[in-house]
Amino acid sequence: MCVFCKIAAGEIPCTKVYEDEHVLAFLDINPVTQGHTLIIPKKHADDFTQCPSYLVARMHGIARKLAKHYDAILKPKGYHFLSNAKPAAGQSVFHVHFHLIPRYDATDGLDFAFRGTERHKLDPATQKKLHL
Ligand code: 5GP
Ligand code: ZN
Repeated sequence: MCVFCKIAAGEIPCTKVYEDEHVLAFLDINPVTQGHTLIIPKKHADDFTQCPSYLVARMHGIARKLAKHYDAILKPKGYHFLSNAKPAAGQSVFHVHFHLIPRYDATDGLDFAFRGTERHKLDPATQKKLHL
């Protein structure tokens, strides 16, 4: 059983902030900002590409509710909502989870910025191929 399955089963303790039949949310053990929260489905899937859409939608709904709730308590100025899938994207626990990361200001210690460059632009033929 993976570490998050053990948390979902109550075999490993966590600081729960939300629980229902399908979804659990708890504070990250190693938070990158105050209130850094993980939202997981109780049923194992390796990452969000493997997780049924209804569960992803449910986790998104919980993230929205938690963000509204945290607004009143932690008073952040913004949030990230993201999921790392597979080692190349930095995934370290292979049970799908979404990070809800409150942001405070430029000095909250998290350096997370998209620095786009020309070299990542796709040629028009490849752009066309990407249309599903
Ligand atoms: P990833 O790198 O896979 O996107 O994120 C995994 C996250 O899980 C990390 O932020 C890490 O701190 C957190 N984490 C790993 N093990 C535990 C644990 O046992 N309990 C809690 N609460 N968080 C964990
Ligand atoms: Zn698992």
